[in-house]
Amino acid sequence: MRKRLRIFQSIHFKIALVFVLLLLLAFQIVGAVFVQRLKSENLKSFKQRVELTPYVDNSLITSLSLENAEQANRRVNSALTGINNQNISDVQVVDAKGNIRGETSANGHALVGQKTTDSRIKRVLYSGRSFSETTYNRADDKHYYVSITPLFSSSGNSNTLIGAVYLRAELESVYDSIDGVTLIFATAAFVATAIGMGLAILISRAITRPIDEMKKQTAKIAEGNYSGHVHVYGNDELGELAQAVNNLSVRVEESREQSESERRRLDSVLTHMSDGVLATDRRGNVTIINDMAAEFLNVTASDAKGHSILDILKIRENYTLRDLLENQDTLVLDMSDKDHAQILNAYFSLIQRESGFISGLVCVLHDITEQQKIDRERKQFVSNVSHELRTPLTSMRSYIEALNDGAWKDPEVAPSFLKVTQDETDRMIRMINDLLSLSRMDSGTARLDLELVNLNELFTYILNRFDMMIKSDQNSEEEKQAKSYTIKREFTHRDLWVDLDPDKFIQVIDNIMNNAIKYSPDGGVITCRLLETQNHVILSISDQGLGIPKDDIGRIFDRFFRVDKARSRAQGGTGLGLAISREVIELHKGRIWVDSVEGKGSTFYISLPYQEYQEEDLWNEDQR
Ligand code: ADP
Repeated sequence: MRKRLRIFQSIHFKIALVFVLLLLLAFQIVGAVFVQRLKSENLKSFKQRVELTPYVDNSLITSLSLENAEQANRRVNSALTGINNQNISDVQVVDAKGNIRGETSANGHALVGQKTTDSRIKRVLYSGRSFSETTYNRADDKHYYVSITPLFSSSGNSNTLIGAVYLRAELESVYDSIDGVTLIFATAAFVATAIGMGLAILISRAITRPIDEMKKQTAKIAEGNYSGHVHVYGNDELGELAQAVNNLSVRVEESREQSESERRRLDSVLTHMSDGVLATDRRGNVTIINDMAAEFLNVTASDAKGHSILDILKIRENYTLRDLLENQDTLVLDMSDKDHAQILNAYFSLIQRESGFISGLVCVLHDITEQQKIDRERKQFVSNVSHELRTPLTSMRSYIEALNDGAWKDPEVAPSFLKVTQDETDRMIRMINDLLSLSRMDSGTARLDLELVNLNELFTYILNRFDMMIKSDQNSEEEKQAKSYTIKREFTHRDLWVDLDPDKFIQVIDNIMNNAIKYSPDGGVITCRLLETQNHVILSISDQGLGIPKDDIGRIFDRFFRVDKARSRAQGGTGLGLAISREVIELHKGRIWVDSVEGKGSTFYISLPYQEYQEEDLWNEDQR
């Protein structure tokens, strides 16, 4: 949480305080100088005002010079009463001997004739120099100005001290006026300070407001909110700073958007990758896992995050993190369970900084199940082909060896030996032809010669051929041993017109029919059905033969697969017939499958795409 600024810590307060202190200091200095000056000026003029006129001085000098003391005192008194100065509160005249000769105060007359006790007067009489001072009388709380001036009579060239005049004046008026001025000054200072303080607050607010705004904006930027904008109040430094903050906000937003879109792009690359990707921190704990990796490893992304990659890949028993970091480039992980096979290739690479510090590990998982299956199948196929060719070749070799060893001379065995070698050669040729047509279909070079064919007619034509074969078999003497069977037809009455390659299609039906006959008991019934659904025709051939064991049903369309190898081989089968049939039907965009109960019989189904043709379409087709 952000710390709140206390009021006396703020610039706002500091500026106002400094302003007020400066004002007070200025007023203090100006006030002190001004009042001092005013005081001294006032005192000076006051002194001038209370100065006795030279006339009074002269009359006092002449009075004191008189021989007759009484007369002198009277004249002194009259001179003193002649002083008409309101400021003067007391005037005393003392002769050179220190005797008081005149006094203006109310009870002063009693003092006349007495010796003065005032040391200051004595000092003046003694020194002949005038004296003045300002005193404060605590008794009446008043300031007084005291001035003692020596009086000299000038006879001839010499000046003779004949006395002194003591003068006391009340200074209150002067002090009152100074106090009044001081009060006015203090009031003015107070008012000016108050106004100054108001101004200082305004100015400091003007300074701190933009700063405050910028502070708020930068806090917002830090929180990831770039919507605000600092108001630029002027062209000064604060204005430039506000502009810089605004620019900063735009830049930060741009770079955040850039990194955000970069992150999204990376995310979408990771999400849509067909490979699984895992990234870990330097302790090997998963930090990133994409959907594909989660699917491969059968975990949820949230469950995987934070767990060790060794546990997620289930390799803790065989590897340590150090192994992965130091030695391991690739690993093959078998994640198969009993329901489905899954083999993954794991590629490891280090996330390394320029300094060499390893900050994590990236693991890319590639599903190689299919590739492995293809590899296995290819190897199996090669071994099957070699095996299938070796068997007839071995038997042919032994027959040829026997013939070579003299059996050729035996008219009993020689023809049958030759017949076997011929049969085996035929079978090998058939197998090679089958393999060639499969390889053509695998490589995509096999082309279909599509024709619009009436399927009812075509199927009937094929089955008729089989019927003919039964008849000819039964007629020919040497084939009397051949199996007998009946072909039943259950066809829809509707003509089904389908696009197909007749030669290849006949090959498929021949193969299924031959199998039905081959794997059926003597006298079995083979039921052939033809029906249509809304957009498919379905053709089925059922026999009452051996049937196919449940476990093998899924594999009988595989190359070289036979339920009973010896029996199939004895019947001249190559094990490729159904594989070719499936390829042909899939080329027609159809499907072939089987339903079978072991010991009861099998039904082979073929479905082909079908679109109902209107009479007019056919008509138009023929016209073209
Ligand atoms: P083959 O040349 O051996 O007949 P196919 O590919 O035609 O090869 O058939 C594969 C295997 O499927 C056969 O060996 C046989 O075991 C089984 N099979 C095919 N058709 C039938 C059927 N109608 N009844 C029982 N088993 C069959």
